[in-house]
Parts: sequence; structure tokens; C-alpha cells
Amino acid sequence: MARPADDPGVPLDHYRQHAGCGVRFCCQACAWSADVALEAVIARLERRRLGDARTGIRAVARLSHRPCPRCGAQAWETRPAFPPGPSTANATKARSVPLYSFDEPN
Ligand SMILES: [Zn+2]
Repeated sequence: MARPADDPGVPLDHYRQHAGCGVRFCCQACAWSADVALEAVIARLERRRLGDARTGIRAVARLSHRPCPRCGAQAWETRPAFPPGPSTANATKARSVPLYSFDEPN
């Protein structure tokens, strides 16, 4: 199912109904990825006045100007990151350690 490049995606607010859902940032240059908590993404958009909970999840990629920590590219793709099932609760906990902070130092 092809999407137009400018499709903003589903509003972030929609994912609030999925407990533990985050935003996965995928580097299209090297395939590095990291999950960021949904509320952290929304808070950052609001703080920088780039958007809010109505911002589409795919549009978030275009609003992130942070280079990839692995390859330095700025070629993000964003998609919802649903938490794994209850049987992998320990994995969820380990995964919650932030690999990548979406926040930049001021
Ligand atoms: Zn990369």
C-alpha cells in the first residue's frame, strides 16, 4: 500500500490509547532505529512549537533534524512502536532504557 511522501500519518494522539506505544525512529540510510516514548515526542514538538498531539506520526520524521548517531544522516522515517506482549515484559523493561534521546540539550 503506497503512501504519498507528504502523508502526515495518523495523529500522535491516536496512539495514546495504546499503552506503552512509542515512536520508532528509523534511519533510512543505515537502518539504525530507536524507540522514543510517545509523550516525550509530543512534549518536544510542543516545546519547539513544531507541532502537538495532532501532528501525524509520519510527519514527525520531517521535524527531526537530529543526525543519526551511527551514520550522521538525517533521513528519518517514523512509525508507531507498539510494545511487545506480556510474555516479554522483561524485554520491555530492558528496552525502556533509552538508546536515543529525542531531547537535545538546550
Ligand atoms: Zn544512520
